[in-house]
Amino acid sequence: MAEWVCGISECEKRFGTIGGLLRHQIKDHPYESCKVCGEKIPDGIFSIQHVLGTHGRREYVLAYNATSNDIRYREKIKKLVELEIDVDATYELLMSERDEEIQKLLEED
Ligand SMILES: [Zn+2]
Ligand SMILES: [Zn+2]
Repeated sequence: MAEWVCGISECEKRFGTIGGLLRHQIKDHPYESCKVCGEKIPDGIFSIQHVLGTHGRREYVLAYNATSNDIRYREKIKKLVELEIDVDATYELLMSERDEEIQKLLEED
């Protein structure tokens, strides 16, 4: 079974599935503003998908001062992830789960 490691800062938590990793990144890490469009996005895999998928290489290089190694590394991850999972659908699912959890928190007195 493939092992997925969270690459955010020094986290390095390990997950047996990409779904587990994405759930962790969306719920346990703070969101970052995209340096291209300013939208708040979960850090890690979703950030890679957003910047390279939505904006493309050119914007990524300009906004993030990226090197060709940075691009290669992220495009490799992006491909691996896309082989395993529908990233957009997973994003929608996890965000609605998260909204429900926040809603529950707010309703508790
Ligand atoms: Zn993490
Ligand atoms: Zn953006």
